[in-house]
Amino acid sequence: MHDTFPLLEKIPFPAIRRGRLDTLQINVGYRCNQSCLHCHVGASPHRTEEMSDAIADTVLEFLQRRRISTLDITGGAPELNPHFRRLVSASRAMGVRVMDRCNLTIFEVEGQEDLPEFLAAEQVEIVASMPCYLEDNVDRQRGKGVFDASIRGLQRLNALGYGRDGSGLTLNLVYNPQGPSLPPPQAALEADYKRVLGENYGVTFNKLYTLANMPIQRFGSTLISKGEFDTYLGLLQHAHLDANLEGVMCRNLISVDWRGFVYDCDFNQMLDLPLTYGASDHVHLFDLLNAPLESNPIRVAGHCFGCTAGQGSSCGGALKEAAE
Ligand code: SF4
Ligand code: SF4
Repeated sequence: MHDTFPLLEKIPFPAIRRGRLDTLQINVGYRCNQSCLHCHVGASPHRTEEMSDAIADTVLEFLQRRRISTLDITGGAPELNPHFRRLVSASRAMGVRVMDRCNLTIFEVEGQEDLPEFLAAEQVEIVASMPCYLEDNVDRQRGKGVFDASIRGLQRLNALGYGRDGSGLTLNLVYNPQGPSLPPPQAALEADYKRVLGENYGVTFNKLYTLANMPIQRFGSTLISKGEFDTYLGLLQHAHLDANLEGVMCRNLISVDWRGFVYDCDFNQMLDLPLTYGASDHVHLFDLLNAPLESNPIRVAGHCFGCTAGQGSSCGGALKEAAE
């Protein structure tokens, strides 16, 4: 796989600093039951990295001490980590809002059959990848049979109340473009998704988040192989809006890897670009239990234009829509 960072670090990006920390995003491991083309983590069934029991304890201590309001759990398929359910239950018992970045096909993996019921009982907010409402497009990007399994997953979640008004169970979907283009307007695409998934499969959900593909990991490497890297970076830079700088997710979130090391966001984690704090350039979550982070500089490079291009991209979807 091509390393995109040597190209990205040559591209200047406006300096930004941290605001108030409200979200802890943890990557509990790179193992996944899928191996999608656009995956910015490079996850697959063969990866073995996973967060240990001791680091999971540090995560819980951090949530409590820092009074963090949201825990955002990602992977790989985060549910494959043996400590996933303990992390969820302990966080919910503290009153923390928990988000699970769920790929929907995980419900059909042996040993995970009761996962939807567990998530519903803990009132976990589900953020699920669904790159298109058309079978061919999904299967091309995520693998054969993924679309049908994802629809079955959504139908199971709907049957439990997820995505239905008044249930208190939130189900949001994530769209990313098939190739090196910007996502279309979020509100219009959300309406299309709701119509097609509703009419054809009886599926309902709350919101659609549209995200730009990041020029890193497998997707970035593919761009280099096809000679499309510079064109895509040019597209992102050309569409950059200063107004989006205020809302980028790294202002209020830190991202923690499976070993407990801390980054300004998940993308920086994948680029091995750690958060810098004081003299330390590879800070651990344990070191931050009492450390103020407000105003700390954020490590930026060319990939950050993926967050500020057009309507913007964040863990809550388009920045423009999020602000409305
Ligand atoms: S399901 Fe998500 S984590 Fe797994 S390979 Fe696909 S994009 Fe990566
Ligand atoms: S990639 Fe986005 S979230 Fe990460 S540091 Fe850059 S602007 Fe912030």
